[in-house]
Amino acid sequence: MIHAGAGPEPVSGARQTPIFQNTAYAFHDADHAASLFNLQTFGFIYSRLGNPTVAALEQRLASLEGGRGAACCASGHAAQVLAFFPLMEPGSRFVASNRLYGGSITQFGRTFRKFDWHCDFVDTEDLAAVEAALDAGVKALFIESLANPGGVVSDLEALAELTNASGAVLIVDSTLATPWLCRPMDWGADVVVHSATKFLSGNGTVIGGAVIDSGRFDWGASGRFPGLSEPEPAYHGLKFSETFGDLAFTTHAHAVGLRDLGATMAPMNAFLILLGLETLSLRMERHCRNALRVAEWLEGHPKVAWVSYAALPGSPYRDLAAKYLPNGAGSVFTFGVRGGYEAGIRVVEGCDLFSHLANVGDARSLILHPASTTHRQLSDEQRAAAGAGPEVVRLSIGLETVDDLIRDLDRALAAA
Ligand SMILES: *Cc1c(COP(=O)(O)O)cnc(C)c1O
Repeated sequence: MIHAGAGPEPVSGARQTPIFQNTAYAFHDADHAASLFNLQTFGFIYSRLGNPTVAALEQRLASLEGGRGAACCASGHAAQVLAFFPLMEPGSRFVASNRLYGGSITQFGRTFRKFDWHCDFVDTEDLAAVEAALDAGVKALFIESLANPGGVVSDLEALAELTNASGAVLIVDSTLATPWLCRPMDWGADVVVHSATKFLSGNGTVIGGAVIDSGRFDWGASGRFPGLSEPEPAYHGLKFSETFGDLAFTTHAHAVGLRDLGATMAPMNAFLILLGLETLSLRMERHCRNALRVAEWLEGHPKVAWVSYAALPGSPYRDLAAKYLPNGAGSVFTFGVRGGYEAGIRVVEGCDLFSHLANVGDARSLILHPASTTHRQLSDEQRAAAGAGPEVVRLSIGLETVDDLIRDLDRALAAA
C-alpha cells in the first residue's frame, strides 16, 4: 500500500511520488526510439500508452492483488473494455453474473453488442448453470467478488475451477472488496478489474480504473485468444504470448489497448489514487466496523423489512464471506424499507449526514435508492435479480463516528 512501485524519485530525491504532468519522453537516440517502438525496450514514449506516475500505481496495484502486471485507465468501465479487448473478436461470446453492478449489465448487454461482443447473463450461484453456459466458444466468465448493491459474495474457488476446466478466462471485478478484503487471484482468478473511483482512492475525488493480470494464463497453448497468440501486424508480426510470456496481457493492454482505445488515466488521478492507497487498510477496517454496527442496528428497526449484509449471522452469504472476506464484508449494503418505492425515496430524502448521490467507497457516508436512480434503465426482472427492487435502499458507510450515522438514519426512518 505504501512502498510498492515507488521509492524516492532518482533525480531530486523527492520521497512522495511526483505527478509527471507530461505528454512525451525524449529518446536517447534513434536506436533507442526504434527499440521502444518495436517493444524491444520497456520505457516511456507518449503518455497515452504509459506515464511514470501511472506506472507507479500500476506496480502498486499488481503487488496488492498478487498479479504480474497492471494497466490503469480512465474509469472502471474503461477497465472492463480494456480487460475484454485482447480476448474478444467480432462475434465472440462471454458469460457474466446477473448480479453485477447495474452499469456493467448495461455495458455488457447493450453497448458491447455494437462491437459484436455478446454476453450471456447467468445466476452464478447455480454452478450447474455456469458449467452449462461455459461451452468451448466462451472466452471469459465475469463476476464480482462482492457484488454491488446486493452484498452477494461469489464462490470464487468453485467458479475458478469451472472456468479453468472450460478453457475460459476468469475476470473478477473486485471494486467493493478491494485487495485488503479479498485477493481473487489467490482463489484462481486470471484477471482482476477495479473501479479505482471507489475505495482505492477513497475520497470521492477521481474517476479511474485498473486491469490486473495474474500472468498465469497460457495464451499460446490455449489457441482461443488469437489477439494474444497470433502475429500482430502493427508490431511487425510479433506474437505477444511468445515475446512477452507472463507479461503478454499487460503489454498488450498498453501497446494495443491504451494505444488504440485511448482511455488513459491522467497522472493527477494516479497520484490521488496512490495517496488514497496509503491508508487503504486503515480505512477498510473502519468502513467494515461501522457498516456492521449500522447493519445490526437496522435489523432491529421496526420500519426495516430486511438487511442484506454478508457479515450478519442470518445472511445466506455468511459462510462465503467467512471464507473469502475474513477481514470484513465491506461497507456497501442494502436494506428494505416497509412501504416500498415511496418509503424508500422518503428515507433517502430524510437523511442529513448521508449524502444522496450515486457513488460508493467515499470517506463520507452515502445513500441511494437504486430503483429510481442507478438501476432505473433495467427491466423489473433485471432489477429484482440485481437486488434493486422498489423498497431497496443502498448505503455506503463512511468513516464518520458510527453513532452519528445511526442517529441520522433513525430520524429519516421516523419521517418515512
Ligand atoms: C463504479 C463501479 C464500476 C464502474 O466504475 P467507474 O469508475 O464508475 O467507471 C464497475 N463496477 C463496480 C462494482 C462499481 O462499483
